[in-house]
Amino acid sequence: MSERKPMGALINGARKIVIKIGSNTLAKSDGIINGVFMDDFAAQVAGLMATGKQIVLVSSGAQVAGLSTLDRWSRRRDIHYRQALCAIGQVELMGRWRSSFRRKGIHIGQLLLTKEDFADDLRTLNMRNTLFTLLDEGVVPIINENDSVTVDEIRIGDNDNLSALTAILWNAELLILFSDIDGVYTGNPKTDPAAALIPSVEDIGALRSAISMGETNPFGSGGMATKLEAAEKVTGYGIPLLLANGGTPRALSALMEGSGRGTIFWPGIPRPL
Ligand code: GLU
Repeated sequence: MSERKPMGALINGARKIVIKIGSNTLAKSDGIINGVFMDDFAAQVAGLMATGKQIVLVSSGAQVAGLSTLDRWSRRRDIHYRQALCAIGQVELMGRWRSSFRRKGIHIGQLLLTKEDFADDLRTLNMRNTLFTLLDEGVVPIINENDSVTVDEIRIGDNDNLSALTAILWNAELLILFSDIDGVYTGNPKTDPAAALIPSVEDIGALRSAISMGETNPFGSGGMATKLEAAEKVTGYGIPLLLANGGTPRALSALMEGSGRGTIFWPGIPRPL
Protein backbone atom coordinates (compact mmCIF):
# COMPACT_ATOMS: atom_id res chain seq x y z
CA MET A 1 0.00 0.00 0.00
CA SER A 2 1.26 3.44 -0.81
CA GLU A 3 1.36 6.25 1.68
CA ARG A 4 -2.08 7.94 1.92
CA LYS A 5 -1.51 11.67 1.69
CA PRO A 6 -4.18 14.37 1.82
CA MET A 7 -5.17 15.74 -1.56
CA GLY A 8 -2.99 18.88 -1.45
CA ALA A 9 0.07 16.86 -0.45
CA LEU A 10 -0.65 14.30 -3.14
CA ILE A 11 -0.54 16.96 -5.86
CA ASN A 12 2.31 18.89 -4.31
CA GLY A 13 4.35 15.70 -4.04
CA ALA A 14 3.82 14.64 -7.66
CA ARG A 15 6.29 16.01 -10.19
CA LYS A 16 4.91 14.37 -13.33
CA ILE A 17 1.18 14.92 -13.71
CA VAL A 18 -1.21 13.99 -16.52
CA ILE A 19 -4.38 16.09 -16.54
CA LYS A 20 -7.39 15.11 -18.62
CA ILE A 21 -10.04 17.69 -19.39
CA GLY A 22 -13.42 16.50 -20.60
CA SER A 23 -15.54 18.09 -23.31
CA ASN A 24 -18.19 19.20 -20.81
CA THR A 25 -15.55 21.11 -18.88
CA LEU A 26 -14.17 22.76 -22.02
CA ALA A 27 -17.47 23.71 -23.59
CA LYS A 28 -20.13 26.01 -22.26
CA SER A 29 -23.71 24.76 -22.12
CA ASP A 30 -24.34 26.18 -25.62
CA GLY A 31 -21.54 23.97 -27.00
CA ILE A 32 -19.14 26.87 -27.55
CA ILE A 33 -15.54 26.29 -26.42
CA ASN A 34 -14.97 28.15 -23.16
CA GLY A 35 -11.96 30.36 -23.85
CA VAL A 36 -12.12 32.01 -20.44
CA PHE A 37 -11.83 28.61 -18.79
CA MET A 38 -8.90 27.68 -21.05
CA ASP A 39 -6.99 30.90 -20.32
CA ASP A 40 -7.53 30.41 -16.62
CA PHE A 41 -6.57 26.75 -16.77
CA ALA A 42 -3.40 27.46 -18.76
CA ALA A 43 -2.43 30.04 -16.14
CA GLN A 44 -2.86 27.43 -13.39
CA VAL A 45 -0.76 24.92 -15.36
CA ALA A 46 1.91 27.61 -15.80
CA GLY A 47 1.85 28.09 -12.02
CA LEU A 48 2.45 24.37 -11.48
CA MET A 49 5.26 24.34 -14.05
CA ALA A 50 6.92 27.26 -12.30
CA THR A 51 7.23 25.03 -9.22
CA GLY A 52 9.17 22.44 -11.27
CA LYS A 53 6.32 20.15 -12.24
CA GLN A 54 5.87 18.64 -15.68
CA ILE A 55 2.35 18.57 -17.06
CA VAL A 56 0.87 16.55 -19.92
CA LEU A 57 -2.65 17.52 -20.96
CA VAL A 58 -5.15 15.13 -22.50
CA SER A 59 -7.77 17.39 -24.02
CA SER A 60 -11.13 16.28 -25.32
CA GLY A 61 -13.31 18.68 -27.20
CA ALA A 62 -12.48 18.11 -30.88
CA GLN A 63 -16.01 17.05 -31.70
CA VAL A 64 -17.69 19.77 -29.68
CA ALA A 65 -15.35 22.39 -31.16
CA GLY A 66 -16.20 21.10 -34.64
CA LEU A 67 -19.89 21.35 -33.87
CA SER A 68 -19.67 24.87 -32.59
CA THR A 69 -17.68 25.87 -35.69
CA LEU A 70 -20.14 24.31 -38.15
CA ASP A 71 -23.38 23.98 -36.28
CA ARG A 72 -25.29 23.02 -39.39
CA TRP A 73 -23.76 19.54 -39.09
CA SER A 74 -24.87 19.04 -35.57
CA ARG A 75 -27.68 16.67 -36.45
CA ARG A 76 -25.56 14.28 -38.51
CA ARG A 77 -24.41 11.28 -36.57
CA ASP A 78 -22.68 8.98 -39.05
CA ILE A 79 -19.04 8.17 -38.52
CA HIS A 80 -17.66 10.10 -41.48
CA TYR A 81 -19.33 13.31 -40.41
CA ARG A 82 -18.19 12.84 -36.84
CA GLN A 83 -14.65 12.26 -38.07
CA ALA A 84 -14.86 15.34 -40.26
CA LEU A 85 -16.15 17.34 -37.30
CA CYS A 86 -13.14 16.20 -35.26
CA ALA A 87 -10.79 17.17 -38.10
CA ILE A 88 -12.24 20.68 -38.04
CA GLY A 89 -12.61 20.91 -34.27
CA GLN A 90 -9.13 19.65 -33.41
CA VAL A 91 -7.62 22.63 -35.22
CA GLU A 92 -9.97 25.03 -33.42
CA LEU A 93 -9.23 23.39 -30.10
CA MET A 94 -5.48 23.53 -30.47
CA GLY A 95 -5.61 27.08 -31.78
CA ARG A 96 -7.44 28.05 -28.62
CA TRP A 97 -5.03 26.15 -26.35
CA ARG A 98 -2.09 27.73 -28.15
CA SER A 99 -3.35 31.24 -27.49
CA SER A 100 -4.14 30.40 -23.84
CA PHE A 101 -0.64 29.06 -23.20
CA ARG A 102 1.04 31.77 -25.25
CA ARG A 103 -0.24 34.33 -22.74
CA LYS A 104 2.05 32.59 -20.27
CA GLY A 105 4.97 32.27 -22.70
CA ILE A 106 4.51 28.51 -23.00
CA HIS A 107 4.57 26.52 -26.24
CA ILE A 108 2.35 23.51 -26.83
CA GLY A 109 2.85 20.37 -28.89
CA GLN A 110 0.10 18.15 -30.30
CA LEU A 111 0.08 14.35 -30.20
CA LEU A 112 -2.86 12.56 -31.82
CA LEU A 113 -2.77 8.90 -30.84
CA THR A 114 -4.65 5.72 -31.61
CA LYS A 115 -5.12 2.43 -29.81
CA GLU A 116 -2.71 0.77 -32.23
CA ASP A 117 0.04 3.21 -31.26
CA PHE A 118 -0.07 1.89 -27.68
CA ALA A 119 0.05 -1.73 -28.89
CA ASP A 120 3.19 -1.28 -30.99
CA ASP A 121 6.59 -1.26 -29.23
CA LEU A 122 8.35 0.97 -31.74
CA ARG A 123 5.55 3.52 -31.82
CA THR A 124 5.39 3.46 -28.03
CA LEU A 125 9.08 4.17 -27.84
CA ASN A 126 8.73 7.05 -30.27
CA MET A 127 5.76 8.49 -28.36
CA ARG A 128 7.75 8.33 -25.12
CA ASN A 129 10.76 9.99 -26.74
CA THR A 130 8.61 12.78 -28.17
CA LEU A 131 6.90 13.34 -24.83
CA PHE A 132 10.16 13.42 -22.89
CA THR A 133 11.76 15.79 -25.40
CA LEU A 134 8.81 18.21 -25.37
CA LEU A 135 8.76 18.23 -21.57
CA ASP A 136 12.52 18.68 -21.31
CA GLU A 137 12.09 21.78 -23.47
CA GLY A 138 9.33 23.16 -21.24
CA VAL A 139 6.62 22.54 -23.84
CA VAL A 140 3.17 21.30 -22.78
CA PRO A 141 2.17 18.20 -24.79
CA ILE A 142 -1.55 18.14 -25.53
CA ILE A 143 -2.89 14.72 -26.46
CA ASN A 144 -6.15 13.59 -28.03
CA GLU A 145 -7.24 10.49 -29.82
CA ASN A 146 -6.74 10.71 -33.58
CA ASP A 147 -10.48 10.69 -34.04
CA SER A 148 -10.39 11.37 -37.78
CA VAL A 149 -8.57 8.15 -38.61
CA THR A 150 -10.01 5.76 -36.05
CA VAL A 151 -13.27 3.88 -36.45
CA ASP A 152 -15.16 2.21 -33.64
CA GLU A 153 -13.42 -1.16 -33.86
CA ILE A 154 -9.93 0.26 -33.39
CA ARG A 155 -10.44 3.29 -31.23
CA ILE A 156 -9.75 3.78 -27.56
CA GLY A 157 -13.04 5.62 -27.57
CA ASP A 158 -12.74 7.84 -24.55
CA ASN A 159 -10.12 10.11 -23.13
CA ASP A 160 -10.36 8.65 -19.62
CA ASN A 161 -8.72 5.47 -20.89
CA LEU A 162 -6.41 7.44 -23.23
CA SER A 163 -5.16 9.52 -20.32
CA ALA A 164 -4.59 6.37 -18.26
CA LEU A 165 -2.52 4.82 -21.08
CA THR A 166 -0.59 8.09 -21.35
CA ALA A 167 0.11 8.20 -17.60
CA ILE A 168 1.45 4.64 -17.73
CA LEU A 169 3.50 5.31 -20.86
CA TRP A 170 5.14 8.34 -19.26
CA ASN A 171 5.47 6.86 -15.74
CA ALA A 172 3.43 9.77 -14.37
CA GLU A 173 3.13 10.20 -10.63
CA LEU A 174 -0.50 11.33 -10.72
CA LEU A 175 -3.42 11.35 -13.15
CA ILE A 176 -6.09 14.00 -12.66
CA LEU A 177 -9.41 13.58 -14.48
CA PHE A 178 -11.27 16.86 -14.68
CA SER A 179 -14.89 16.20 -15.38
CA ASP A 180 -18.25 17.86 -14.75
CA ILE A 181 -18.76 15.89 -11.55
CA ASP A 182 -17.10 16.46 -8.17
CA GLY A 183 -16.13 12.81 -7.77
CA VAL A 184 -17.83 9.55 -6.87
CA TYR A 185 -20.95 9.83 -4.70
CA THR A 186 -22.77 7.30 -2.56
CA GLY A 187 -25.97 8.18 -4.47
CA ASN A 188 -27.27 10.66 -7.01
CA PRO A 189 -26.36 14.10 -5.65
CA LYS A 190 -28.94 15.72 -7.96
CA THR A 191 -31.85 13.82 -6.47
CA ASP A 192 -30.63 12.48 -3.14
CA PRO A 193 -29.73 15.13 -0.53
CA ALA A 194 -28.07 12.43 1.57
CA ALA A 195 -25.65 11.47 -1.21
CA ALA A 196 -22.11 11.99 0.01
CA LEU A 197 -18.86 12.40 -1.89
CA ILE A 198 -16.51 9.45 -1.44
CA PRO A 199 -13.10 11.11 -0.91
CA SER A 200 -10.99 8.00 -1.20
CA VAL A 201 -11.27 4.64 -2.96
CA GLU A 202 -8.97 1.70 -2.30
CA ASP A 203 -11.02 -1.14 -3.78
CA ILE A 204 -12.48 -0.36 -7.19
CA GLY A 205 -14.19 -3.75 -7.43
CA ALA A 206 -16.11 -3.12 -4.21
CA LEU A 207 -17.01 0.38 -5.37
CA ARG A 208 -18.27 -0.93 -8.69
CA SER A 209 -20.64 -3.34 -7.01
CA ALA A 210 -21.83 -0.67 -4.57
CA ILE A 211 -22.82 2.01 -7.06
CA SER A 212 -25.21 2.09 -9.99
CA MET A 213 -23.40 1.97 -13.33
CA GLY A 214 -26.44 1.80 -15.59
CA GLU A 215 -27.84 4.42 -17.88
CA THR A 216 -29.49 6.04 -14.94
CA ASN A 217 -26.22 6.16 -13.04
CA PRO A 218 -26.02 9.10 -10.66
CA PHE A 219 -23.01 10.69 -12.19
CA GLY A 220 -24.35 12.78 -15.02
CA SER A 221 -23.10 12.27 -18.53
CA GLY A 222 -19.50 12.00 -17.43
CA GLY A 223 -19.43 8.23 -17.76
CA MET A 224 -18.35 6.68 -14.49
CA ALA A 225 -17.56 3.34 -16.15
CA THR A 226 -14.64 4.69 -18.18
CA LYS A 227 -13.35 6.58 -15.14
CA LEU A 228 -13.24 3.38 -13.14
CA GLU A 229 -11.49 1.63 -16.04
CA ALA A 230 -8.90 4.40 -16.08
CA ALA A 231 -8.50 4.14 -12.31
CA GLU A 232 -8.02 0.38 -12.57
CA LYS A 233 -5.39 0.82 -15.25
CA VAL A 234 -3.24 3.42 -13.50
CA THR A 235 -3.52 2.16 -9.93
CA GLY A 236 -2.32 -1.22 -11.22
CA TYR A 237 0.88 0.60 -12.16
CA GLY A 238 1.19 2.42 -8.84
CA ILE A 239 -0.23 5.74 -10.10
CA PRO A 240 -2.99 7.44 -8.06
CA LEU A 241 -5.94 8.97 -9.89
CA LEU A 242 -7.81 12.04 -8.73
CA LEU A 243 -11.31 12.63 -10.11
CA ALA A 244 -12.53 16.19 -9.64
CA ASN A 245 -14.78 18.85 -11.09
CA GLY A 246 -12.84 20.95 -13.59
CA GLY A 247 -15.61 23.51 -13.85
CA THR A 248 -15.14 24.97 -10.37
CA PRO A 249 -13.15 28.22 -10.10
CA ARG A 250 -9.37 27.72 -10.03
CA ALA A 251 -9.99 23.96 -9.85
CA LEU A 252 -6.36 22.95 -10.13
CA SER A 253 -5.00 25.52 -7.69
CA ALA A 254 -7.79 24.73 -5.20
CA LEU A 255 -6.85 21.04 -5.24
CA MET A 256 -3.22 21.93 -4.65
CA GLU A 257 -4.10 24.17 -1.75
CA GLY A 258 -6.17 21.36 -0.27
CA SER A 259 -9.45 23.27 -0.55
CA GLY A 260 -10.75 21.36 -3.59
CA ARG A 261 -13.04 18.36 -3.56
CA GLY A 262 -12.62 15.09 -5.38
CA THR A 263 -12.22 11.33 -5.17
CA ILE A 264 -8.75 9.82 -4.99
CA PHE A 265 -8.24 6.27 -6.26
CA TRP A 266 -5.20 4.86 -4.53
CA PRO A 267 -2.77 2.34 -6.01
CA GLY A 268 -1.98 -0.89 -4.31
CA ILE A 269 -5.24 -2.48 -5.32
CA PRO A 270 -4.90 -5.89 -6.98
CA ARG A 271 -5.90 -5.73 -10.65
CA PRO A 272 -8.85 -7.90 -11.66
CA LEU A 273 -7.91 -11.20 -13.30
N1 GLU B 1 -11.60 12.53 -28.56
C1 GLU B 1 -12.91 13.07 -28.34
C2 GLU B 1 -12.98 14.54 -28.75
O1 GLU B 1 -11.97 15.21 -28.72
C3 GLU B 1 -13.35 13.02 -26.89
C4 GLU B 1 -13.39 11.69 -26.25
C5 GLU B 1 -13.80 11.82 -24.78
O2 GLU B 1 -14.30 12.87 -24.40
O3 GLU B 1 -13.63 10.90 -24.01
O4 GLU B 1 -14.04 15.03 -29.07
